[in-house]
Amino acid sequence: MKNTLLLLLLILLLGFQNTNAQSNSIQNKIQTNVKGIEQKVIDWRRDIHQHPELGNREVRTAALVATHLQSLGMEVQTNVGITGVIGTLKGSLPGPVIALRADMDALPVLERTPVPFASKVKTMYDGKETNVMHACGHDSHVAILMGVAEILSGMQKDLKGTVKFIFQPAEEGVPKGEEGGAELMVKEGALKNPQVDVIFGLHINAQVEVGKITYRPGGMFAGVADLKITVKGKSSHGAEPWSSVDPIVTAAQIINNLQTIISRNINITRNAAVVTIGSIHGGNRSNIIPEQVEMLGTVRTLSDADEKLIFERIFQIATKTAEANGAEAIVELPYSSHYPVTFNNLELTAKMLPSLQKSAGLSNVLLVPAETGAEDFSFFANEVPGFYFYIGGLPKGQDSETSAPHHTPDFFIDESGFSTGINAMVNLVADYMEMGKL
Ligand SMILES: [Zn+2]
Ligand SMILES: [Zn+2]
Repeated sequence: MKNTLLLLLLILLLGFQNTNAQSNSIQNKIQTNVKGIEQKVIDWRRDIHQHPELGNREVRTAALVATHLQSLGMEVQTNVGITGVIGTLKGSLPGPVIALRADMDALPVLERTPVPFASKVKTMYDGKETNVMHACGHDSHVAILMGVAEILSGMQKDLKGTVKFIFQPAEEGVPKGEEGGAELMVKEGALKNPQVDVIFGLHINAQVEVGKITYRPGGMFAGVADLKITVKGKSSHGAEPWSSVDPIVTAAQIINNLQTIISRNINITRNAAVVTIGSIHGGNRSNIIPEQVEMLGTVRTLSDADEKLIFERIFQIATKTAEANGAEAIVELPYSSHYPVTFNNLELTAKMLPSLQKSAGLSNVLLVPAETGAEDFSFFANEVPGFYFYIGGLPKGQDSETSAPHHTPDFFIDESGFSTGINAMVNLVADYMEMGKL
């Protein structure tokens, strides 16, 4: 309670400071510029939408971005984290370094929308020919950030600091055997030279009404780790189970016991968490008790502390349950992938909330629950304070329950939502520069 009061006070204080951050003339200039660039952003988006590229293959998109940033007179780095592009805009006045991030990749989905710029692209994916579609809206993110870059470079003499425009490949994952995404860009120094102070990112959302912004302080998207448990026992004839150490019975007990982690160990009033076993394999016929069973699963958490606790409990439960049965459990966790929690820095969120309210209108900025999906923006926000939010892409008056979800063939974005995103990004930069570092 005490902490909640303190946080509220902080939000009020920082909000008051922020409300006064910009002069009216800069604010007016921003609004005129957003209106002026909107059609260009829509045209870029349609071009990118018609030419979608899968993760680590965003060659055409990256070239389009690099050419645009160069035309604005920016210093541009290409091939960062395979196809990533970074533009650096130095303001005339000294100040903080602010990074803005857009992801560029599309998905192996066959587009079914009736729009005239629907994708007809096919490519090779995982050894097979597949259709490609911007079915998560990353085409919108690229176009919006290109527009923001144009507006901010036009305000270069007013800028108190530096802006780094980060165009990132492979947010949706990388082809087998490759590295990529935000993690690789961080590894290759995307947040260094100059060292980034804070980072902002947005995602368009087909289930949020156009004109609205949604956000959550703290854990917004889950941290993800996959796991593998191998239960080793002793094989026998199925008719003589007393001669075996049965890995199937042991695996069944482990799965049931894992259910107590969320129900009995996690404080669910603070954050949600998930432990799922999604695959189990053992044995090959009815009358043989096999030697081993393999299970795969996923862990989703919204705080690092919960993740640590869940990892510990999975190790304990799997190994001790196996031991009690005379078997052995080998736990690999994380097994092949590990994304941190996408954590919105509390102080930065409080400080910048008024900028979003100014951009979309007070009643259009809404606090929402966290999601158990993941977003690799988390790799950036793990290094420097970050703030990530949603902008609406659902046509006004449409039902979010019946609109096509992200990653599906009918996924649709209403382009009139772009101006909210452009406005928000420009205001975040202008206000943060005015207020100075955290
Ligand atoms: Zn996606
Ligand atoms: Zn996405």
